[in-house]
Parts: sequence; C-alpha cells; structure tokens
Amino acid sequence: MTLIYKGRETAVRIDKETAVRVTALREKGIAPCLAVVRVGERPDDMAYESGLMKRASELAVNVRRVLLPADVRQDAVERVIDDLNADEAVHGILVFCPLPAHLNERAVCERIAPDKDVDGTTAMSAAGVFLGKPIGYPPCTADAVVRILEDRQVPLRGRKVCVVGRSNVVGKPLSLMLIGKSATVTVCHSATADLPAETLAADIIVSCAGRAGLIGRRHVRPGQVVIDVGINFDKDGRMCGDAAAEEIDGIVGAMTPVPGGVGSVTISVLMSHVAEAAGRKRL
Ligand code: NAD
Repeated sequence: MTLIYKGRETAVRIDKETAVRVTALREKGIAPCLAVVRVGERPDDMAYESGLMKRASELAVNVRRVLLPADVRQDAVERVIDDLNADEAVHGILVFCPLPAHLNERAVCERIAPDKDVDGTTAMSAAGVFLGKPIGYPPCTADAVVRILEDRQVPLRGRKVCVVGRSNVVGKPLSLMLIGKSATVTVCHSATADLPAETLAADIIVSCAGRAGLIGRRHVRPGQVVIDVGINFDKDGRMCGDAAAEEIDGIVGAMTPVPGGVGSVTISVLMSHVAEAAGRKRL
C-alpha cells in the first residue's frame, strides 16, 4: 500500500508552530507583517495572493498589499522595495514573479533586504542556503519539501535522494538543503542520460521538472518516497504533477498528491518565515 502524504496535514502542523510564535511576538508588541508587491493582475498571482491573505489572517500575520499597474516603471518598483526595506513595521517582502517583461526582475528581487527576503529570491539568501547559515531565507517551495520529509519522519541522513530538476528556485537550493541534512544527493536534469537508473538507485525521489508523466512505473521501486513538486495540466486541463500517479500508486511506499501536496505547504512555510523574520532581530 502506498501512503499518501497530504500536504494539508503538514501545513496544519507548521501553522500551529507559527501561531504560537506569532502570539509570543504579539505579546511583546510585535505584529508580524508581510508586504506583498503585485505588478498587474495575473490570475496566478491573484489566486496565490488570496490564499496567502486568508492564511495570514488565520495566523494573525498582517499583510500589506502594494498593487502596481502593469506598465509601472523600474525606478518606481525599486522605490517601493526601498521604502519597504526601511519600514520597521514590515518584516517580510514578497514580489510576485514573473514581473512584466519590461522590468528587470533580477534587479527588483536583489533590492530586497536579505533579512526581509522571506521567499528566498536574493543572492544573499542563495548564499545562506549554500553555506547552511541563517542569511536570508530558503525558497519556500524547496523548504516545503524538506519540511514534508521531516514532518513525515523520513530519515535523510545517509539516504539517497534523487532530485529531478536543477532550477534556481527549486531543484538547486533543495539539493543543497538535503546535502545539509546529510543525504547523498543526485541531481538530474534535462541532459541526464539515464533517468530511470538514477531514480531507481534512490530511496527518495523529488521531482521538480514540470513535466507531466515524467516519473512512471519504470522509474520507481517498492519502498521509495516520491515527493512531487511539479504543477502541470493534462490534456483535459486537470492539474497534475510530474509523477504518473496512477502508475506508481501501489508500487512506492509513499507519495505526495498533486494537487494537495507540496503546494499546500508553501504558504505555511512562507508564514513561518515571516514569523521568524519578525522575531530574528528583536527577540
Ligand atoms: P524550471 O522549468 O525552471 O526547471 C525545470 C527543471 O527540470 C530544469 O532544471 C530541467 O533541466 C529539468 N527537466 C526538465 N525536463 C526534464 C526531463 N525530461 N528530465 C529531467 N529533468 C528535466 O521549473 P521550476 O520553476 O523549477 O519548477 C518546476 C516545477 O515545479 C514546475 O512544474 C512548477 O510549476 C512547479 N512548482 C511548484 C511549486 C509548488 O508550490 N508546488 C512552486 C514552484 C514551482
């Protein structure tokens, strides 16, 4: 039988810890606050924003929304970031990406002060992940994968993990974080010669390739844990992950569903980073 690791269950446990932290901060007169900067009205951003606002209100985390027109100038966005950096009442800053093509997204993200970079987008946060030091924050999705594995008490020390995907937002930071947990990590990508050989050798497979059906029957064996980060849509427009879930269900030991897996944990991780940011400097 394959265990299904529902993200919601881990999210609830993370939220409980965050709620305790927020209560302690509020008793000291600190109201944790996340600033979200949205340029334009992309439906994806708006959906994420409304999920985020709902969770923030449940956890008593304040959200300051900064909404900018789709044709906003680079200097105006950068000024917004500078003001939020300087504002002591703001503890975390999230900029919805991708930004419209006329903007220099990297320059905007790099402007976020590392101690407010709760979504891990700056080079300083990448350095923190690389060094295993509390500089900035890891990207929320990569952190969500680690939190799911820890929450489910999947041992990492000395275990073989195959990470499929090497992007700067998910695969690469996740691989470094898993090395930090003493796992033996193999990173696969679009040029990997024999993907099944690599995934079959692993105890844990984390797929973050964004390719529907990439991980099928021939990539897995009994006892493995499969964490599916992919968000794809099948030919009928239904959301699905990278794993052919119906093929590997019944073979592997445990897997996360899509939807309802890693994605359900991301906002909880973001809120935990905001609570941490609010406490880091002043407690
Ligand atoms: P990306 O396109 O930047 O990176 C994909 C990576 O997968 C690349 O490194 C590429 O080399 C690798 N890859 C592509 N095809 C492959 C193949 N056939 N075999 C092996 N490797 C292959 O994507 P990303 O931004 O890292 O996101 C990856 C997936 O995770 C997407 O589906 C995205 O929607 C999803 N995602 C989910 C969440 C969440 O909260 N669950 C958050 C962010 C991203």
